[in-house]
Amino acid sequence: MSTSPFIPRLLESDWQQPLGKIVCVGRNYAEHAAELNNPVPKQPLLFMKPATAAVDLEQAPLELPKDAGEVHYETEIAVLVGKRLQKADPDQVFAAIAGVGLALDLTLRDLQTQLKQKGHPWELAKAWDDSCPLTALVKAEKVEDWQALELSLSINGEERQRGQASQMLTPLAQLLSYISQHFTLEEGDLVLTGTPAGVGPLHSGDQLELELKGYLQASTQVK
Ligand code: ZN
Repeated sequence: MSTSPFIPRLLESDWQQPLGKIVCVGRNYAEHAAELNNPVPKQPLLFMKPATAAVDLEQAPLELPKDAGEVHYETEIAVLVGKRLQKADPDQVFAAIAGVGLALDLTLRDLQTQLKQKGHPWELAKAWDDSCPLTALVKAEKVEDWQALELSLSINGEERQRGQASQMLTPLAQLLSYISQHFTLEEGDLVLTGTPAGVGPLHSGDQLELELKGYLQASTQVK
């Protein structure tokens, strides 16, 4: 279960700031929007998870809710905010990022589909305890080209997802700027930047390998 407070593992640093809110964006890769038959939004589609959703991806096997229908993985580039961003311009964003890693935006897909049909909020399908397994993060200063960040996920040795930041419908800097017009981003907040195509259900015993190409690798198993 989640331990509170959750402190992100920012490598080669003495980061001690507890995790704040987690701001997520839906449908930020066109091919993923299409695979779930969703239209591409004109503005970023935002939702949030509380800090209690976070769990260390590598510390223990993933525990999924029981009898809750399909639990889908969504592999996403996650950025840790190091300095407050409030109504920020895109060119102010990168100086405020402390680190980058990968997260799973675990989703109760059957429940989300029902909530969407009713026009209800998504939190019950998205914000539950342990719904946001997070890898270690590398320091932002190590990133040479933010647009070239590339993530991948393999399950049981088979590649399921691959995506590059350059494919995002709203690029990183514009995304954090947009978020900060509505919700102040504070030190310790995390932003999940959307998932590429290839999402699907997790099963007990699945072995997951995640990679942020050139920066980090992480693996876990579904309990
Ligand atoms: Zn997502």
